[in-house]
Amino acid sequence: MILSILTCIFCTNTQTEKQETEPVAFDYNVEKFADLGILRYQVTDWDSLSLKQKQLVYCLNEAALYGRDILFDQNNRYNLAIRRTLEAIYANYQGDKTAKDYEEFVVYLKRVWFSNGIHHHYGEEKFLPGFSETFFFDAVKSIDSSLVPAKAGQSVDDFLSEITPVIFDAALFAKKVNQDSNVDVIVHSANNYYGENLTQQEVEKFYADMKNPSDSTPVPFGLNSRLEKKDGQLVENVYKIGGLYAPAIEHIIYWLEEAAKYAENNQQKLVIDLLVDFYKTGSLKKYDEYSIEWVKDTESVVDFVNGFTESYGDALGIKASWESLVNFKDLKATALTKVISENAQWFEDHSPVAPQFKKKSVKGITAKTITATILGGDCYPATPIGINLPNSNWIRKDFGSKSVTITNITEAYDKAAAGSGFNDEFVCCEHEKALITQYGTQTDNLHTDLHECLGHASGQLLPGVDPDALKVYGSTIEEARADLFGLYYISDPKMLELGLLDNPEAYKAEYYKYMMNGLITQLSRIEIGRNIEEAHMRNRSLIAHWVFEQGRKDKVVELLRNENNKTYVVINDYDKLRTLIGELLAEIQRIKSEGDFKGAQKLVEQYAVNVDLTLHKEVKERYTQLNIAPYKGFVNPVYEAIKNKKGVIIDIKITYSEGYAEQMMRYSTNYSPLPTYN
Ligand code: ZN
Repeated sequence: MILSILTCIFCTNTQTEKQETEPVAFDYNVEKFADLGILRYQVTDWDSLSLKQKQLVYCLNEAALYGRDILFDQNNRYNLAIRRTLEAIYANYQGDKTAKDYEEFVVYLKRVWFSNGIHHHYGEEKFLPGFSETFFFDAVKSIDSSLVPAKAGQSVDDFLSEITPVIFDAALFAKKVNQDSNVDVIVHSANNYYGENLTQQEVEKFYADMKNPSDSTPVPFGLNSRLEKKDGQLVENVYKIGGLYAPAIEHIIYWLEEAAKYAENNQQKLVIDLLVDFYKTGSLKKYDEYSIEWVKDTESVVDFVNGFTESYGDALGIKASWESLVNFKDLKATALTKVISENAQWFEDHSPVAPQFKKKSVKGITAKTITATILGGDCYPATPIGINLPNSNWIRKDFGSKSVTITNITEAYDKAAAGSGFNDEFVCCEHEKALITQYGTQTDNLHTDLHECLGHASGQLLPGVDPDALKVYGSTIEEARADLFGLYYISDPKMLELGLLDNPEAYKAEYYKYMMNGLITQLSRIEIGRNIEEAHMRNRSLIAHWVFEQGRKDKVVELLRNENNKTYVVINDYDKLRTLIGELLAEIQRIKSEGDFKGAQKLVEQYAVNVDLTLHKEVKERYTQLNIAPYKGFVNPVYEAIKNKKGVIIDIKITYSEGYAEQMMRYSTNYSPLPTYN
């Protein structure tokens, strides 16, 4: 499960002071286009690694870059064709590059790169180009026809008539993931996890038949395949050697096997070997074995995620998108999260959740803070700031999970956002502003730690409850559960007792930002006229609106407008707010533990989905005035192996100067093994 950033823009922290004392020239901001801001991150303490560890990172980084095509194809079956067409134009176009159409073309290509396809990475809707069809036709025809990724035997004209509506017709492939419970979510989702002509009912039946309710250690069925209909029968086309996406998987395996040579210890080598076995065979039993050994490896400094991991991209939450993240431990910050994980049982025992839904013993929570070295697949360029894996419920129960927060990414968000004017625009009162300035970053990180280390790990299902019972509402409810756990405890005196905060009022920074975000500012990330789709956003909206409504008569939280017709969140009673958060936590845990689909549906549909149009327009306007990009992503650093005269690697050097388009084009040239049509 991932936790994504959106608090970045809030945190001005104490940057002015820092900038005076350390004249750092590192430029965190790369560029802006559409609703996107591109940043870069610094790999802090890289030189604290040994040469062997650097070589290990290097190999894992390579493995992380080779899966990029997979994600494009998973997101939609035309994504690779479109990306390759646009890139061919970008590299070869001889026409007027100052013309409006060409400028819009570049923006569209940059958006396709950012989203790993033609749908918004967050809102899920298809975004449309700002250039004309005529421009597109002429541009495609102007380049060498061998560069056009047509199907075998297809003429450029036929290719154009097939691909043009995919780009320009708003109604075709309108949404990548459609979570609307009133429609067939398989038919109406544009992703490529299911073959053509499949219905939700068929898919649900296929996987229901695979389920064995008495199996206490079920393999995560369906995770790594496309379900297809062949001669009237449903079959899984598995991602593996000899199967779907094999050309990319071969490269990933090659670099994992290289990495194994530099493993820090036997456990880590075992982990890598098992992952290779999984990629070779596609066996999900192997995947579970790998996950279990991966959880057990808490000693290694270098660590990684590489595989078919998160299922947010599938409306039914069965299929997983490919992602990778390579990292090493941030030892200083890890000490803090260790304190949290060591006290996991205390938090579980004292939570407001009903006793039957609590874990008697919370096992194996390892919390650590990491420095990312590369982002790949579904972690690139938009990335989570925290990760908690594996997702398998029984492995989490029996073996625990690993939870990380990525400090160099949050640092980059904070530093890039310093001085954006956001707090002055959206925060109601001086008191809150001061608290946010002083404690915003700290409480943000703490909330992330609590969410990942405790929230996702807490609670239990009642015996016999299907972990997938909440279906399309599952992700939202799970994220709400973890967020509420974090919110409930961040204001607890225990935080001061454990030395995690030093001011009893510090938590108010997080409460205020959370409410402001859930009620107001996250609307900046949605297009006018649309509702909230993405699970994390739905979760934040759910929590903020639920407590707002429940506290309405006591005016716990208010939405007030000033003389300029600007809306602000005002929190009148922080203690009552916490009580409400506790009540919602108890209810959400009950829903999860009992598998109460109706309960989940009611909460999500009532509080999480709908958008107030007037407020929405106001927020968009205020963001435009501030010129803040609502979504952010990153370019990766460039790693270069330095060799001596004998060709032996003596160091791995990092540079940060690569631009966004430059990097994307390099990846598409050097790390693009898949055919256009898979
Ligand atoms: Zn989460």
